[in-house]
Amino acid sequence: MSKTGEKPGKGVYVCIKCGEKVRLDDNSDRLPPCPKCHGTEYKP
Ligand SMILES: [Zn+2]
Repeated sequence: MSKTGEKPGKGVYVCIKCGEKVRLDDNSDRLPPCPKCHGTEYKP
């Protein structure tokens, strides 16, 4: 489980609330709040 503000590394993360996918292109990118539901928890 990854949360908003963490830097979990490159990859696609799926919002646990709504299923929205967020892609991080860089290992230094932080996870944003979900653009759709503003959720803060993702699964890898
Ligand atoms: Zn969401």
